[in-house]
Amino acid sequence: MLIPVASSQRCSQHTGNWRASVGLRLSQRASVLIVLLSGCSIPPTTTTSSGTNPPQTPPTPVKSLAVWTNNFNGVPFTMVGTDPSSANGGTTEITTIIVPVRLNFGGIVIIPEEPACGDTQPAIQRVIQSPILQNAAWNPAVFPAATTSTQFGDAFQRANFWSIISKTSPNYHVLLSPYSEAAAITINIPPGIGAQIAQNPLCPSEFYGAVPQQYLDTAVQQALIGLHATADQLVMFITYDTELLLTDGGIWLGYHSNAGGQTYLVASYMDGAFEQIFRTPGAIDTSVLSHEVGEWLDNPLGVNKVPAWGGYGLQTSCGSDLEVGDPLVGNVGAYTDPTGFSYHLQELAYFSWFARNSPSLAYQGRYSTLGTFPTVAPPCVNGALKSDHLRLPQSNYTEWHPVRSAETD
Ligand SMILES: [Zn+2]
Repeated sequence: MLIPVASSQRCSQHTGNWRASVGLRLSQRASVLIVLLSGCSIPPTTTTSSGTNPPQTPPTPVKSLAVWTNNFNGVPFTMVGTDPSSANGGTTEITTIIVPVRLNFGGIVIIPEEPACGDTQPAIQRVIQSPILQNAAWNPAVFPAATTSTQFGDAFQRANFWSIISKTSPNYHVLLSPYSEAAAITINIPPGIGAQIAQNPLCPSEFYGAVPQQYLDTAVQQALIGLHATADQLVMFITYDTELLLTDGGIWLGYHSNAGGQTYLVASYMDGAFEQIFRTPGAIDTSVLSHEVGEWLDNPLGVNKVPAWGGYGLQTSCGSDLEVGDPLVGNVGAYTDPTGFSYHLQELAYFSWFARNSPSLAYQGRYSTLGTFPTVAPPCVNGALKSDHLRLPQSNYTEWHPVRSAETD
């Protein structure tokens, strides 16, 4: 059970300091404290030049995210990458900045740079070592073989339009590359905003958190400014075991968004106990991040609209957003890396499910990565009840066949 955050925090303790990090492997890090305490906010300091005739710098070229637009089956869209239906569609590389986010609840700090409950490696290292950022060998029953192993998002997007890519642009890729880990940021969570923390019953030294989503979003948008990211890059904010509270009573574990064309996402790394304690099926380690990366790829600017769908996953009523993770929240597959660690990755719906493409444009004619959706989305009737869709717990993303050499099909 979540408990309200104690109201003993003193905002004056946190005014704009640089503070050395604590914890394992953190000796070289520093965290920027973001002060967002209601009633005691510190106005941003502005440095102005007192000299005369400062050197003029040439204007910086405006950068923008690499996207392509098209219209399949009457459904227009904008996605990350290049158009795979143009001959020899190539490789798009998106520079990716990974930002560990520490949430400071009046001195109790929930950080992603220590091992999750029951794990031995820091959560942020799991993220970096996950097949979302590392190349992985995928189960050929799930994703088409690539010339080389590749990242989860790329494997998904290749599968998404495989009927086109296999014929027109077999070397098509959209990669999160290069990636780098930025210094952690600390967001102070003041009392009185509805935030909550709870002790982890399995790891009593750790806590779960819940923060109003709008509050967190204001903080990460401030952090974006300090990162000097450009719009051609993706910024990933990684929290740990933290729910985001919506004004309508809903709960998110992550989201993707853009601020003036700068795309970013927030995703919580989850320990396995969270799934049991909070009854959030499938919220395990990197499953939330996999959801957001898939949605960022296919709807980076949040503008893609499809014929109404609903009654699946997060979408209990009729909606029209092209959000490939939302209809299958709770359905996850595992990818076991060579060290034996299993990463959990959410099942994602293919574009053809939303656009009612029949046959599907996707790999093996599927409508979702693990095959849960056998056909296109049914017409949505307003007031549609949430339907429990089939979970496929035995499906996974790991390749179980030895890699065949010198074979094509
Ligand atoms: Zn979503």
